[in-house]
Amino acid sequence: MVARYWEALKGVKDPEIPVLNIVEMGMILDLEAQGERVRVRFRPTFSGCPALQTIREEIQRALLAAGAQEVEVVEARTPWSTEALGEEAREKLLAYGIAPPLPLPLAEEDPPCPRCGSREVFLKNPFGSTLCKRLYQCAACGEPFEGFKAV
Ligand SMILES: [Zn+2]
Repeated sequence: MVARYWEALKGVKDPEIPVLNIVEMGMILDLEAQGERVRVRFRPTFSGCPALQTIREEIQRALLAAGAQEVEVVEARTPWSTEALGEEAREKLLAYGIAPPLPLPLAEEDPPCPRCGSREVFLKNPFGSTLCKRLYQCAACGEPFEGFKAV
């Protein structure tokens, strides 16, 4: 039953990062199920993210559809960290054209260009298309790209 709930959560995406589901993003800390009562602890990637409410609702909906009768979504105090992104998740982000943040302790540095890998990039705008991203431009290939805000 628990496996089924996890499976259901894999269908939930952060609307701002459509290539990764919230499980791949490392946003789900744990899931407890007692029969049809499910409790999920999740941590938002970026606490000011306007998509948060949507994500909570999507979690509820997905679990109810998977057979849960009662769903409790708890926001964990543990902050999300870039370490939560696995290798596969990073590759998917790159392939999508979003530069994943560098692993800690470099997470605050500018990410390399997702197209050519150059580290010569500059911040064009601290706000990308959404609050969770920033807009960069690559000095080597000239391409603009979005970087994921680390914290
Ligand atoms: Zn480039």
